[in-house]
Amino acid sequence: MPEECIFCKIASGEIPSNKVYEDDTTLAFLDINPRNPGHALVTPKKHTETVMDTRESEAGHLFQVVRKVAQAVGAATDADGISIAQSNGKAAGQAIPHMHFHVIPRFESEGPIGLEGVLPVKQMKKDKLESIAESVKDNIGPVETSPSPSTEEREEKSGKKKSKKNLPSVEDLDMDF
Ligand code: AMP
Ligand code: ZN
Repeated sequence: MPEECIFCKIASGEIPSNKVYEDDTTLAFLDINPRNPGHALVTPKKHTETVMDTRESEAGHLFQVVRKVAQAVGAATDADGISIAQSNGKAAGQAIPHMHFHVIPRFESEGPIGLEGVLPVKQMKKDKLESIAESVKDNIGPVETSPSPSTEEREEKSGKKKSKKNLPSVEDLDMDF
C-alpha cells in the first residue's frame, strides 16, 4: 500500500470515516464533500488503483456491494435516482488513486445532469464508430466468471419466495388505460 493513500488509511482505521458498509474485502463510507446528502464511496480495502487493475475474481463482489449501497442510499435519502460514477486515471479526473465508486443520490428538483453535463457529445462518422467498435472487440479477453444464481433466484426456484412471475399480469387487473 502506498504510504500516503488516504483510502488505505481509512480502510485500516488510521483515518476516521462515516462507514455505511464493511466486509472482509470491501468498504463503503460517506464522501466528505458530498455532491448530495448520502453521497457514498465504495472501495476495495486492498489498494487497487483503477478498475482495470481490479482482479476479475474480486470485481463481481465489488459490484454487488455497489448495488446494495445504491439501494440503501436510495432508501435512506428517498432519492428519485442514483448516479454511479467512477473515474480511472488523472485524465478522467481521479483525484484519489485508490479505486472507488461514487454512489450519489439524485433528486428531480435539481434537474437532470447526466453524462452530457460532464463531457459534451462528439460528432463521429459511422465508419469511425465501427472501426473503434472493432478495435475494442479485438482487445476484450474472455470473461472468466459466469453468473451463478443468487440467493433470491434460488429461493424463487425452490418456491420459498414468490417470484415476480406469480404476480397478476396487467391484463388480469382489469384496468382502464
Ligand atoms: P475522485 O475524484 O473520483 O478520485 O473522488 C475522490 C473523492 O474522495 C472526492 O469526492 C472527495 O471528496 C473524497 N474524499 C477525499 N478524502 C476523503 C475522506 N477522508 N473521507 C471521505 N471522502 C473523501
Ligand atoms: Zn490505497
